[in-house]
Amino acid sequence: MIKIENITKIYSNQAGDFLALENVSLNVDKGDIYGVIGLSGAGKSTLVRCINLLERPTEGKVYIDGEEITAMGEDQLRKTRQSLGMIFQDFNLLMQRSVTDNIRFPLEIAKVNKKDAENRVAELLELVGLQDKANSYPAQLSGGQKQRVAIARALANHPKVLLCDEATSALDPVTTLSILKLLKDINEKLGVTIIIITHEMKVVETICNKVAVIESAKIVKDGWTKDIIHHF
Ligand code: ADP
Ligand code: ADP
Repeated sequence: MIKIENITKIYSNQAGDFLALENVSLNVDKGDIYGVIGLSGAGKSTLVRCINLLERPTEGKVYIDGEEITAMGEDQLRKTRQSLGMIFQDFNLLMQRSVTDNIRFPLEIAKVNKKDAENRVAELLELVGLQDKANSYPAQLSGGQKQRVAIARALANHPKVLLCDEATSALDPVTTLSILKLLKDINEKLGVTIIIITHEMKVVETICNKVAVIESAKIVKDGWTKDIIHHF
């Protein structure tokens, strides 16, 4: 589903060059819930941003469903990005828009007609259990509810993959478990492949079938979660 081949990422700015990823390779199969764990600054966020090309790898290739995304032109890239949903630690919701309008936003961008968009939003509200918050604004929601809105928005255009960048790091343990349970349902019922970036082993143990450990820009271990956590 996702193949990352020998990626290196160097950030260059006035301060000089910084090596954020060094020769990283990873294979994520369809149906995986793949964890990427490491300390703050290890390069996790850079890695996940190289999958949807929010960052361009300095070297190396990324394939989505057999197609090399790193070789795509802008038009094809825009289309492929619709098959990659993403959620973040700080939710990134549009604060001036209602829950419904937040979820509808990617459908508008994809030029889905009004009736279909309305039906899709209703379906997504039910999926994440927020029917009663349809007309609320993000400021009126708890952290867990905001992340549910973000998940609904990320799934709007039926992506094959959901990228989660520290999606539960701002949440308390109980809310974290409820969000992880929702992600597991989405993986099982909708067949969405999920990549989870986290610094918490508990998150990996709870939900990930496979995990890669990233340390100082390199993957130092990867494989089945049950084999890897043995080593901690
Ligand atoms: P993690 O997600 O594991 O915390 P990141 O991928 O965010 O790690 O960052 C890896 C390293 O790259 C950090 O040392 C960070 O300071 C650096 N870094 C991240 N983004 C940039 C950037 N745009 N410019 C320069 N350095 C960056
Ligand atoms: P959940 O576990 O569902 O994410 P919480 O237990 O954190 O929610 O919050 C319970 C209720 O309190 C929610 O229904 C939410 O509407 C309300 N709430 C929580 N945080 C806030 C907030 N910052 N502003 C307004 N309402 C809030």
